[in-house]
Amino acid sequence: MILTIAVFIFGLIVGSFLNVCILRLPRGRSIITPPSHCPQCKLPIKFYDNIPVISFILLWGKCRNCGEHISWRYPIVELLNGMLYACVIHEFKFGGEAFLLMALCSSLIVISFIDFDYQIIPDVITLPGMFVGLTLAPFFMSTLGGDSLPFHLGRLLPHAGSYLTGFFNSLVGLLLGGGPLLAIGWIWKKLRHIEAMGGGDVKLMGMIGSFLGWKGALLTIMLGALAGSVVGLVLIVFKQHTMERVIPFGPFLAIGTLVTAFHGSDIISWYLGLIRL
Ligand SMILES: [Zn+2]
Repeated sequence: MILTIAVFIFGLIVGSFLNVCILRLPRGRSIITPPSHCPQCKLPIKFYDNIPVISFILLWGKCRNCGEHISWRYPIVELLNGMLYACVIHEFKFGGEAFLLMALCSSLIVISFIDFDYQIIPDVITLPGMFVGLTLAPFFMSTLGGDSLPFHLGRLLPHAGSYLTGFFNSLVGLLLGGGPLLAIGWIWKKLRHIEAMGGGDVKLMGMIGSFLGWKGALLTIMLGALAGSVVGLVLIVFKQHTMERVIPFGPFLAIGTLVTAFHGSDIISWYLGLIRL
């Protein structure tokens, strides 16, 4: 219980840094310097006014100096990150897998908000993310277990050792994650001359696949597409959206990833049970 609360507070503090990333990464500005300042009066924010969530409440969402409104998104991002960290530690216990999932959650928060605002997904997150997935995830992620390898690759590599089988699952996850989106984007471009699937989505899905393995990658795409279709249809019905405009896919893939990370194995075994009937 104490650990969960400590991790929640740690998540809030990291969330505060994520806000800086969301604000500055798409504009190509440094995430280290200058320190946080008010966008209106440019005055640096004092450390006691920069406490996650609490400062926002105490200041009633306004700059102490000039009274400029502070976006409600800052405390939302902090709370979201804190709650996800607490859920991860509750579900996976303290260890390498929890740590990797926290890093994945924070990356997905930053990517989702930037994709929502600018319809871009920065390579500066997805490319290092793939590297971390390929190198570290095979050590810790339970989703990369050797028995879950595709095409009986596990049986072809009986002496490969658990790291190597995990690495293959991570690599196949990366390729099977990015591949379908790359294909959809290519076909759509040929048929309709529309950039439906950006390269950013492909790399994002590659990164997610490298963490979750090939089964997790495919489930994430299905869940993301399902969530995206439901929201897209609702928007079209309420005339908020046209078929031609592109809905950012990143936030839906992020939702798919979270569902897969927490409940993926249950959903996959339920699904496999269905098709066996
Ligand atoms: Zn100000």
